[in-house]
Amino acid sequence: MLKYALQIRPKQINRFPWQLSNQNWRRSYSSKIRNIGILAHIDAGKTTTTERMLFYAGKTRALGEVHRGNTVTDYLTQERERGITICSSAVTFPWNGHRINLLDTPGHIDFTMEVEQSLYAVDGVVVVLDGTAGVEAQTVTVWSQADKHKLPRLIFINKMDRPDADFEKCVLDLKEKLETQPVCLQYPVKNEQGLLAINDVITLEQLSWQQKDLGRSYKNIKLEPSDSLRQLQEKRNELIDRLSGLDDELADVVISTESFDKVDNALIERALRRATSQQKVVPVLLGSAYKNVGIQRLMDAVNSYLPAPEERNQIYDCFGTEVAGKVFKIVHDKQRGPLTLVRILRGEIKRGMRLISARGQAEVVSKLYEPLADEYREVSAVQSGDVVICAGLKSTVTGDLLTSSQSALKNAQKRLKQSLGAATTKDEEDDEPDELDELFSIDPQIPDAVYFCSIEPPSVSSQTAMEQALRQLQREDPSLRVSYDSVTGQTVLGGMGELHMDIIKSRILSEYKIDVDLGPLQIAYKETIESPALNTLSVEKEIAGSKQNVSITLEVVKNQTELFSLDKSPENLASLNTLRPRILQVLRKGSISALERGPRVGGQVVDTQIRLHNASIGRGTADSFVMATAAQCVQKLLSTSGTRLLEPIMALQIVAPSERISGIIADLSRRRALINDVLPKGDRNKMILVNAPLAELSGYSSALRTISSGTASMTMQPCGFASMNSADESLAERRAQGLE
Ligand code: GDP
Ligand code: MG
Repeated sequence: MLKYALQIRPKQINRFPWQLSNQNWRRSYSSKIRNIGILAHIDAGKTTTTERMLFYAGKTRALGEVHRGNTVTDYLTQERERGITICSSAVTFPWNGHRINLLDTPGHIDFTMEVEQSLYAVDGVVVVLDGTAGVEAQTVTVWSQADKHKLPRLIFINKMDRPDADFEKCVLDLKEKLETQPVCLQYPVKNEQGLLAINDVITLEQLSWQQKDLGRSYKNIKLEPSDSLRQLQEKRNELIDRLSGLDDELADVVISTESFDKVDNALIERALRRATSQQKVVPVLLGSAYKNVGIQRLMDAVNSYLPAPEERNQIYDCFGTEVAGKVFKIVHDKQRGPLTLVRILRGEIKRGMRLISARGQAEVVSKLYEPLADEYREVSAVQSGDVVICAGLKSTVTGDLLTSSQSALKNAQKRLKQSLGAATTKDEEDDEPDELDELFSIDPQIPDAVYFCSIEPPSVSSQTAMEQALRQLQREDPSLRVSYDSVTGQTVLGGMGELHMDIIKSRILSEYKIDVDLGPLQIAYKETIESPALNTLSVEKEIAGSKQNVSITLEVVKNQTELFSLDKSPENLASLNTLRPRILQVLRKGSISALERGPRVGGQVVDTQIRLHNASIGRGTADSFVMATAAQCVQKLLSTSGTRLLEPIMALQIVAPSERISGIIADLSRRRALINDVLPKGDRNKMILVNAPLAELSGYSSALRTISSGTASMTMQPCGFASMNSADESLAERRAQGLE
């Protein structure tokens, strides 16, 4: 049994600060804060779980239910109607002397960007699983996002009240599909009334919840000597053994007492906390949010096992006591205007304070609020480690790092450089700017739009209001693209999927009272030229009595770096040198504008450069005429030389039992997919890495469910554009014209 404890391990030299401060655990304000994200596949029960947490913490008086549409966190009308969470909202509540700041995040693939942003603000994550479904597609996606941010995690297996829930299968899924090290702290049982109860591995108690008071109170009874107690003791021993292989303090006690029974609970919890913080294990809890079982213990576990803010983000120490805050979200509030959600990493933000971003704009925080979904409570100051909502910041953008002054920023940069300099050799100095850039402002990675549709106001008079609404929505959600198609005269939305567009439409209706129409959803193809082409266009016209005269020679060539250049060959150089810089700008602008809309399906023209060979412009010719001629010349070039289509490609990771793999691959090959790799995953599963055209993936997740009888899980994200063969091109063209 002492398998792990007796293993000889190298003495850890670089202990983490929280390991050192064990004896004199600093009882500071920040050590009592937990900033956590809650992540899951859609419908696993995130919103219901959050509601229960708020209820038991005393923040709400009545229980909200998703299907009744009155939950606190799904506060957009849209979300209430659909019963899903779209905008991540921050909520704060007290629990056992701690303060939990919780970010509820969207679970749908169209909104992965929102999840990504909120992960910058948290120190740990609760992953909710549907106990009847195990690890699902989106679970895999959010898990890898949490990996990227190196976030400690807890798992809550929800819906364990359902007869088809399968705890063991979920744990197996965690091991095999996520390749994680789950440690079960609880097991499900039926209590005397035949209801879901929980056996606690550490305390050897059985926990039962009262339904009379909506699960507010629960009984914990020590198990009497019995088979189930013996089984639970066995689990406890296994837990201690595993942890002692990871934790010196626990190992020392186990070795000196030569027994597991004498190990006290507090010691196990401390070891578990350290192992969880270092992401060596992931504690697993269970319950039923809907039936009010297990939520309080989940909140206890957040306090006990997930890190406090001061245990992470040490890199921001370079700010000393100055303010450092990361902007992770901007929302629009009808009364209060734009509200900026900031995670304070160092220092204190006060009402009336001036803050600057790494880009150098100074703004005054007019008001501060503590977040409780759509109710905000005003506060006067908020300290390091916490999350706050600031009003009054108008130019701040998601991803900005805020601090108190230019000199504070400079000093922090200097200190960081010094400490990095001490740690790196001369050769590595080149890398520093990147690291600094990443620290001083996160550049949110905005995915390319893969779908688009036209959007139309109900009347010409509401066009301006609609454009304003779209501008605001874009500040909140950078993955929404808005453009204007000069040929059709329509405003065009680009985005991540059907749900994404639908939500935008409903938000414009509910928040801005404009009932817009969306055109059919289309795949956002791009276009590119096949071979270079040259053309001269001469136009002469008389407009309002003044003669307009332009003759221009342009060439299009394949090039990925620059959109516009001058052809400085000897025969052109002399004439190009006579052009004024302003006219060059006008020619450049006109030419480039023609690349927004390719001749085949109106897709953006990419990997194409326009080269100016020659231009002669008559005296008194208007700039707008020059611009239009340049654009027309490029359009002619593109349509005569012809373009090829590029289609959006999705990268899929599919995990399924080995025996299902061939069926899945056979189906994928009918979808023009490119299989990159098939890797073993755990003992029974394999993972397929595959790229497939978006056009072939409509309804794929339900198709996969059918082919694999529900055993497969997958993640999918956009991964660029690829060329297609001419048959597929013609099909895409016919679809774009609405013929298929
Ligand atoms: P989210 O999409 O992850 O936010 O999930 P929701 O909280 O919206 O829950 C999805 C559906 O599952 C709703 O109809 C809930 O009532 C239901 N649900 C949530 N938790 C439980 C549970 O513990 N047991 C059962 N039986 N149903 C649940
Ligand atoms: Mg939800």
